[in-house]
Amino acid sequence: KKAKNKKLPFWHYEDINFQEESTNLDLLAEINKSIQNDNFEIHYQPKINLKNQSIQTFEALIRWNHPGKGYISPAEFIPLVEKSSLIEPLTEWVIKAVLADIKKFKANNNSLEYDIAINISARNLQQPNFVELLINYLKEYNVDPQNFSIELTETDLMVDIENNINKLDQLKEKGINIYLDDFGKGYSSLKYLKEIPIDYIKIDQFFIENLTEDQKSFDIVYSIIELAHALNIEVVAEGVETEAQLKVLKDIDCDYGQGYLFARPDSKEKIIKYLEKAAELNYEK
Ligand code: C2E
Ligand code: MG
Ligand code: MG
Ligand code: MG
Repeated sequence: KKAKNKKLPFWHYEDINFQEESTNLDLLAEINKSIQNDNFEIHYQPKINLKNQSIQTFEALIRWNHPGKGYISPAEFIPLVEKSSLIEPLTEWVIKAVLADIKKFKANNNSLEYDIAINISARNLQQPNFVELLINYLKEYNVDPQNFSIELTETDLMVDIENNINKLDQLKEKGINIYLDDFGKGYSSLKYLKEIPIDYIKIDQFFIENLTEDQKSFDIVYSIIELAHALNIEVVAEGVETEAQLKVLKDIDCDYGQGYLFARPDSKEKIIKYLEKAAELNYEK
């Protein structure tokens, strides 16, 4: 069957590689169906405040709960989905799922003030109604924008930078916090760090992985922290896996850590249990 003869689906899909087109369109069609059937799940991973050991913020990470193949990592389908307009309904699914979970988190423990971040793609910020859509959902689920954040990668930020600055300004104005994800992995002009309303920079896990072994990685992490703090931006280290890395990060004044050392991304049920246990043990590292 020639891909070209196929009836095109409703989503626009660019950057088509004609050899892969057929497979990709099939995959997108399958994902579209899975959105309708709720065959996705959100896992949560805490970010630990390295100054006082508290856990107040989480990242929401999508998993495809594939009917036949089990859990599929977002790394395997997000890069394709975000090239198509299907990223719009997928992100909308994520927003609704996370807001529904926030309600449950709150019902379980009223005293905890959570901040939950979702990952968005460049294409979401190009959606004309994205800010409005998000704000309307926050209202509908009665969640304060202060308890909600977005993560955007450095690479995605640089796509259509003028539009992004404008959209991020609007989100920030509503009280939504902004994380610049995978920092150091892409190329961003440092001048934009001053122009965009970033609250947090997340240092890409590549640099953390090499932090204790490689002087250059150490120098880069150290400099990012200095630069961020000079601009009043807090820093999250991604992919913290060892006590040695944690010690260095604390020594150089990193604000938050996220990684397998503390907790893997897990279902909300497991996260609620983890929180209860952490509170019991008065978590200290
Ligand atoms: P990310 O936003 O940079 O998320 C961090 C990734 O690192 C996650 O992979 C997380 O599970 C993994 N990770 C956390 N701690 C450690 C650690 O200590 N060691 C190692 N080796 N890895 C760690 P995951 O969940 O597979 O997500 C991959 C990427 O997919 C994310 O990178 C994000 O860019 C994207 N993504 C995930 N969920 C969504 C979503 O809902 N929407 C969009 N647009 N993108 C998403
Ligand atoms: Mg992220
Ligand atoms: Mg991305
Ligand atoms: Mg990242």
